[in-house]
Amino acid sequence: MSTIAENISTLAERIRSAAQAVQRDPASVGLLAVSKTKPASDLREAYDAGLRDFGENYLQEALGKQAELSDLPLIWHFIGPIQSNKTRAIAENFAWVHSVDRLKIAQRLSEQRPPALPPLNICIQVNVSGEASKSGCSPEDLPALAQAICALPHLKLRGLMAIPEPTDNPDEQNASFAAVSTLQAQLGLPLDTLSMGMSHDLEAAIAQGATWVRIGTALFGARNYGQP
Ligand SMILES: *Cc1c(COP(=O)(O)O)cnc(C)c1O
Repeated sequence: MSTIAENISTLAERIRSAAQAVQRDPASVGLLAVSKTKPASDLREAYDAGLRDFGENYLQEALGKQAELSDLPLIWHFIGPIQSNKTRAIAENFAWVHSVDRLKIAQRLSEQRPPALPPLNICIQVNVSGEASKSGCSPEDLPALAQAICALPHLKLRGLMAIPEPTDNPDEQNASFAAVSTLQAQLGLPLDTLSMGMSHDLEAAIAQGATWVRIGTALFGARNYGQP
């Protein structure tokens, strides 16, 4: 087995035991492979080991890998900060966007989504860490943003995404993810997705209801440039 395949089986076991610990079906937790900075050959290895969903943060880098891997039926997720001038290419080339945090970006994604494609799946990135985090919609602004996105024709609001302030304390991890889950429930909308949990905190995220864990380091190894 390659290292990537070994890492995937280790992650599958972590996901399985975290789900079972809270009586959840492990199949309800998707493994999103976060492949930023990694070469297309690594994604191909992950595909060969069974993964289909890949998350990228940087548009130009993602488009290059999409071209190199166009022979594979991959599902592409955009998970990085979004500038207005990137929305068209994102709307055209991804199935999911996890990092929508303002209405202007959502409106552009909806307008620019090719009508021949299914609606773009959207998660609203919410900031549950206060001033410690610069991206994400505030909990106060979330209900209005969610309602507005639901009204956009070429988007499908699926749920929330969060990147809490990193901590090794499981109680703090659980509290942050529980806050995301509560915000989602308070919206009272038919949402089915919670995108939360990364390499170091996926167990807490699964305990609090994550349906996508976004995993980079534990799958592909350390990245060779800085954190997003
Ligand atoms: C890089 C990144 C990840 C993966 O983080 P790891 O700690 O390497 O697993 C997950 N989500 C987002 C939004 C990222 O930018």
